[in-house]
Amino acid sequence: MNAAAALRSSPIARAYLVAGLAATALYFALPWGSFAQTLVYDAIAASSAVAVVLGARLYRPSLRLPWYLFGAGLLAFAAGDVIFNLYAFVWHRDPPVPSVADVFYLAGYPFLTLGLVLLVRSLQSDERRKGRLDAAMLIAAFCLCQWVFLLHDRVREGSVAERVVAFSYPAMDIVLLAALVFFALTPTWRTVAYRYLAASMVLLIVADELYGLSPATYATASWLDSGWLLSYVLWGVAALHPSMRELSEPAASRGPRLSRGRFAMLAAALATAPVVLVIQWATGSSVDALAVAVGAGLLSALVLLRLANLVHALDRLRVTERLARAEAETAERLLTEQNARLREADRLKDEFVALISHDLRTPLTSIMGYLELALEEEDLTDEVRGFLDVASRNSERLLRLVNDLLFVARLQAGELSLEPDAVDLGDVVRETMRAVEPRAAAKGITLTCVLDAVPQVHADRGRLLQVLDNLVSNALKFTPESGTVHVSLLQRDGSVRLEVRDSGIGIAPEDQRHLFQRFFRATNAVERQLPGTGLGLYIARVIAEAHEGSLSVSSELGRGSTFRLELPAARAAVAA
Ligand code: ADP
Repeated sequence: MNAAAALRSSPIARAYLVAGLAATALYFALPWGSFAQTLVYDAIAASSAVAVVLGARLYRPSLRLPWYLFGAGLLAFAAGDVIFNLYAFVWHRDPPVPSVADVFYLAGYPFLTLGLVLLVRSLQSDERRKGRLDAAMLIAAFCLCQWVFLLHDRVREGSVAERVVAFSYPAMDIVLLAALVFFALTPTWRTVAYRYLAASMVLLIVADELYGLSPATYATASWLDSGWLLSYVLWGVAALHPSMRELSEPAASRGPRLSRGRFAMLAAALATAPVVLVIQWATGSSVDALAVAVGAGLLSALVLLRLANLVHALDRLRVTERLARAEAETAERLLTEQNARLREADRLKDEFVALISHDLRTPLTSIMGYLELALEEEDLTDEVRGFLDVASRNSERLLRLVNDLLFVARLQAGELSLEPDAVDLGDVVRETMRAVEPRAAAKGITLTCVLDAVPQVHADRGRLLQVLDNLVSNALKFTPESGTVHVSLLQRDGSVRLEVRDSGIGIAPEDQRHLFQRFFRATNAVERQLPGTGLGLYIARVIAEAHEGSLSVSSELGRGSTFRLELPAARAAVAA
């Protein structure tokens, strides 16, 4: 957003700008040297002081003092203007040198400078440091020009008082320019108020300099007044724009970049000494060798310092980069080591589980064998038979768990082996139904099945029994008493499908996504404390996929679930 467009959002600043420009135009329209014209000039000067104070009171920036100082400075200028005009219109004589008007004019600069210094000081020291050398270079170059072209001759002519006045104006411009340069090169704030303020100061300094170069021709160079008048107006606009508040806030720095403008400024500063020499030679004036030598020396020293700073900054950057890279490499190495350790720990865990499961299985099978034998005895009391039944059921559970653990451990080690053969799926379903019937009956669950005639499949019968047993066992486990479990075997679109549908507790949609992962148990199963390990469905999915088939679920919480094992037609065709 450029500065002119930004004014649209601030009616008061815009109104002041429009009025100021109109008054400046009126000034040039009025007869030159008339009383009315001087009145307009004084009114513009005084209005800028009022606008600045008004802005400070209106927007209440956290630092108000700088704005009051600006107000005082502008008021001093306005007072100087009025007194200057009094000589012409009231006292009808030329102002003496020095005059009271000079005192007021000269008093204005320190106020403005102090205001700027206070604004810059409100920033972090870090922000101020950036750009300080660049500012020093520009000021040194300006001082050199100021001395050679304005001051050098003046301090030798006239009375002491005249010399002091002649010296003071350019000196004040140096002070103001120094403050402006710091203000401009501080890599922060680039608000609308900032731009108007900077433009106003540039106009003031340029008009002062042009006047200083040839004060005698001022009478004919009436257009010079436009510089001072616009400077007053823009200062007022800056203060009346709401963004003036941000000038007292610590702004985020973008860091001093070597932009094209900054580069051009620095190049101009560096070229000053030789250019001054050339101008002096070309105009035939005496070469001020000492001043040029001091100026050039100072500029060279500053350039050297700037270079040293750059090199240091580069070094610091390199060290930081080296450190960061070293840290990243260490972190990466640690991560790799940790990963390797984790993988090793995982492998050891699987090995351990496999070992333990295997060792548990042998005595467990023996216990179950003896329990079976014991249960075959005919002269058992009902009580002892009951005990043996409980022991036998729990041993079976334990064996299932051990088998699952062993199976998963082997899977992790990539040891899933299938023993495929022609399998009659109807047979598999019937065998499973026979095995689970007592459990269904004990829970009062209606267990039904529908078997379509399907072709035989080429598969591992034992593994398919394991899958179906798991699905039907789950259906019975997660279906409350007097529910229903229905198993169906059908042929669909060239694939063979085994479905187990129950009217149980169902599974929440967010849990369904994780159902086939290792050790996952749905929230409702955990809450109801239904026993389980979360391995059955994982194993079932792996077995289905090993047969190039798939296992899927559709379920509704509280209404039941349907698990679907699908084997591709190709397997059926091969078997047929
Ligand atoms: P386990 O039954 O040993 O917990 P599974 O891997 O067989 O392990 O099942 C994982 C989880 O899936 C179960 O804990 C349960 O939350 C959910 N689940 C499986 N089958 C059903 C079903 N028929 N009805 C509701 N939830 C089920």
